[in-house]
Amino acid sequence: MSNIDEIIAQSSFSLSDLEQLLRCEGEDMLRLLEHGGRIKNLYSGNKVYFRGLIEFSNICQKDCFYCGIRHSNRSVQRYNLTDQEILEAARFADECNFGSIVLQSGENSSPASADRISKLVEQIKHQSKGRLGITLSVGEQPEPVYRQWFEAGAHRYLLRIETTNQTLFRKIHPQNLLHDFNRRLDCLHALRAIGYQTGTGVMIGLPFQTMGDLAQDLLFFQQFGIDMVGMGPYLEHSQTPLYKFRNELLPIQKRFELSLKMIATLRILMKDINIAAATALQAIDPMGREKGIKVGANIIMPNITPGLYRNDYLLYENKPCIDEEPSQCKGCLDARIAMADGEIGYGEWGDSLHFKTRTKT
Ligand code: SAM
Ligand code: SF4
Repeated sequence: MSNIDEIIAQSSFSLSDLEQLLRCEGEDMLRLLEHGGRIKNLYSGNKVYFRGLIEFSNICQKDCFYCGIRHSNRSVQRYNLTDQEILEAARFADECNFGSIVLQSGENSSPASADRISKLVEQIKHQSKGRLGITLSVGEQPEPVYRQWFEAGAHRYLLRIETTNQTLFRKIHPQNLLHDFNRRLDCLHALRAIGYQTGTGVMIGLPFQTMGDLAQDLLFFQQFGIDMVGMGPYLEHSQTPLYKFRNELLPIQKRFELSLKMIATLRILMKDINIAAATALQAIDPMGREKGIKVGANIIMPNITPGLYRNDYLLYENKPCIDEEPSQCKGCLDARIAMADGEIGYGEWGDSLHFKTRTKT
């Protein structure tokens, strides 16, 4: 029995165990990935749930050093979908029986934007007769705003912590109150206290990031008791400040493998949470998301943003499927999930089992 087999057979994991899992290569890595897939099937079944992703605006007040749509990138053509376009995209998700949508955008903390999102959530709930589950991913907001959106009908929220190493966090963000680690953490606590299914995540393969950092990120997810995780490879964008460190990154294939190892290890660590196979995986490997599903992920976020705007939501370069219309996307996904031995949970919300367990009275 190899050291890896011994570790994955354990019921609890130290930082050093997790680091060893993330470092494994070759046969050991294959066994880890296989085990991640097995644990997923055992504890959450082989169902894959869809969240139709609507990237409704690329206007952002923040300046994260890694992100292509950061405020200071003047070459981005900014857009904000009309309410009609957003409602139409949500209707498409409902017609496709996707079960849920994610409304995602750059960060905008104006009261007008908060009210607009509330109204949209209510309208989507109304037009889908309550069928569509709604996840929001629109950054850091005041607690009353999170509460307002929850009351309007949103029930999941995604806010990646990006990295739990605070020194690294400071290196990848400007130093000001808008980009503060503790503020982001406070937001995650507020979301959970309000009653959201709370999701977070990190980028994998950031410049200066170590295996120890990633192992620590996994322990953070466990200690926080997070319900959902979306994490994927960091991909450089030439119009961002972090681009100058591109020669210090792990080779792209290694970043991809590390992302799969992160998914498999997290699945072994937290058996009942929802884990998304990030779109960034597909930017590296055409079957990237399906590979994520095979090793432990159970959520896919098909992009249903109207094709016209997809070119302008480029967090990183070579983003996949930007030339497709949403209707092309669906047929393609059916075949892909079947290849990954998954069954699509059409028409189901696919809530996190972890959330259901922790909120059971
Ligand atoms: N503005 C909101 C926020 O930051 O939480 C939501 C949208 S933001 C584009 C969603 C996620 O994209 C971020 O949490 C970040 O992890 C990811 N992202 C941004 N730039 C990236 C890059 N260059 N490579 C990989 N992921 C990136
Ligand atoms: Fe804005 Fe989010 Fe990009 Fe940061 S990651 S610049 S908050 S869109």
